[in-house]
Amino acid sequence: MMIIAASILGLVALGAVAWGLWGDLARGRARCPSCWYSLEGAGPTCPECGTRSEGRERHRARRRWWMVAAGAMMACGAVYLGAGRERLVAWAYRLVPAWWVEQRVAAGTTGEYEVVVLANIRPDWMGMPRRVEIRHRGSTVFAMEAAHPQVGTYGMPPEVTAPPGLGVRTDLNRNGAPDVWISDPSPGTGAIGEQYLFDLEEGASSPSVRPACVIPHVGWFEDVDGDGQLEFVAVDNTFAYWWTPGYANPYVKVVLEVQSRGWRVRADLTRRVVNPALVGESGVNEAELAKVAAACVANQEKDFGLWVSVPLRTAVELCYAGERERAWAFLRAVWPARFEGEKPVERAIAEIEGKVGEGLVGR
Ligand SMILES: [Zn+2]
Repeated sequence: MMIIAASILGLVALGAVAWGLWGDLARGRARCPSCWYSLEGAGPTCPECGTRSEGRERHRARRRWWMVAAGAMMACGAVYLGAGRERLVAWAYRLVPAWWVEQRVAAGTTGEYEVVVLANIRPDWMGMPRRVEIRHRGSTVFAMEAAHPQVGTYGMPPEVTAPPGLGVRTDLNRNGAPDVWISDPSPGTGAIGEQYLFDLEEGASSPSVRPACVIPHVGWFEDVDGDGQLEFVAVDNTFAYWWTPGYANPYVKVVLEVQSRGWRVRADLTRRVVNPALVGESGVNEAELAKVAAACVANQEKDFGLWVSVPLRTAVELCYAGERERAWAFLRAVWPARFEGEKPVERAIAEIEGKVGEGLVGR
């Protein structure tokens, strides 16, 4: 229906423009260029309005510009009717470039490589909002789509100092080549995210960007043991969005170290970062554990999802300390009786054991 109305309006618009431009040609007649009075047989002065004219001036076509303008406006209306507002906006955005450079970072040690983050500005764009490109002397050699990519950094706590060139020219996976580290965390709670590492080959005849690995955890690179090599401190997402709302997820830190077959948990280093107040070098701090248990008992009136966050986190921390039986004993001691119908503690422990098997915990 709209398309018929738009077509009719379009034809009328076309007619108006044509009539305005070519509807009144001179066709050999001499006319006053000011008031269009016929000057056949008249002198240089128009007998109607007194305008003087001569030669070609007297044989001009009469253009009705108001009619052309009206036709053009009707044409706009026809396009609006036919295409609709959304499509018009989309067409308008097509006139400007879709991808805008958001960030440029020099990568590697020789100046050959550059990492560029581009953002799509089109409101009708349905794909990922950003694209990361690794360029070699100006030409793109690798591109990936991403949500919120960050180059060479992500979420490092303020007390952790990044070594110079971290994530753009340091060797993070210990194979001799400088690495580009691209982080793509999920928005919101930041429990979910991936780390991508790329090895750059420098000084070669052709560019080489090798995807090295994906670490499927949020986290950052840090020299935890002070040996000059960087480990990866991961947030354990084993329990992210499990029983708890996102913001109450028990994010326990884990230290990963690259080995020949991928990234593995360094249990000895994990004890240092997991929760120094609860798990020290000499084992579990009994006074701290008793304090946490008392708080869990005091908070028993909370909803399950909010209440379980702290006990779950404490249980995971105990697992990392190598104290799995202590973890279950702790849960049995603090578990409210009112959850026994819906979520009995023994079933909860069995579920956690299942998650421990598939997650990072206790590996
Ligand atoms: Zn005249």
